[in-house]
Amino acid sequence: MRLKDKVALVTGASSGIGAGIAARFAAEGARVAVNFRPGSPKDRDAAEAAVAGFGANAIAVEADVSKHDQVEAMVARVVEAFGRIDIAVNNAGIEINKPFLETTDEEWNRVLGVNLQGGFYVSQAAARAMVKQGGGGRLIFISSVHEDIPFPNYTSYCASKGAIRMMMRNLCIELAPHGITANNIAPGAIATPINQTVLDNPIAFKNAVSEIPLGRFGKPEEVASVAVFLASDEASYVTGSTYYVDGGLTQQVTMY
Ligand code: NAP
Repeated sequence: MRLKDKVALVTGASSGIGAGIAARFAAEGARVAVNFRPGSPKDRDAAEAAVAGFGANAIAVEADVSKHDQVEAMVARVVEAFGRIDIAVNNAGIEINKPFLETTDEEWNRVLGVNLQGGFYVSQAAARAMVKQGGGGRLIFISSVHEDIPFPNYTSYCASKGAIRMMMRNLCIELAPHGITANNIAPGAIATPINQTVLDNPIAFKNAVSEIPLGRFGKPEEVASVAVFLASDEASYVTGSTYYVDGGLTQQVTMY
């Protein structure tokens, strides 16, 4: 039980990587708040089913992370339910596949709103609660290998993840006096709904796998195991870092 009695909020936790992290945190003894996006009955059902499976020490919390007031209310609800918050995992994210020249204001703002503004709102509300309660805390961002590597036709996504990297590095310094650490996990290609189009297309799938030294997509649990480490006491001296969980993708050099 590496997270016994810690209180963790995981955003976008009704599917994919977030669901995997919430499940591992619960298995490690944490009290978990499973965030889901409002307006999606599918997400609500998935979050409530997950919480029921975890047992009494979990709640489902609705909030659109791109809306400041909803995030404030969500963090307040977590503190009200569990008395504190120790870990915030900024996982909720979206991407839009669109050439730069055709990207609209609305599309740009939507991606930055969830991926970057959401990370700002959630981390600030969680960090304020952590400072108030004392005893430190953990901020974990699920960024992407695209916090560093360009990805044509995903400029808004790459911009949001690159900015998350810089925000995390600043928080590492600003929040250190409060004992709050900040780290990123940068997944490569993980088999989740965000990649459904590629997973469903044999040619695109083969091309994607050919770029990965380990020769396969990753699983949400393989991201979750790094999140458990960063949230645990074992990572007490780790802050300001990005952990790649990418099967070697970022080391692959395409020669021709
Ligand atoms: P996913 O299954 O689509 O999960 C994303 C989750 O975020 C979904 O539950 C989604 O809900 C939720 N979400 C979207 N907008 C939200 C909002 N405004 N408020 C609250 N929740 C919201 O995909 P995933 O792969 O697990 O992605 C999780 C994170 O990992 C993302 O930040 C993504 O960028 C990052 N990542 C993924 C990969 C990969 O290969 N899978 C690689 C690098 C980074 P809805 O389904 O209702 O929209």
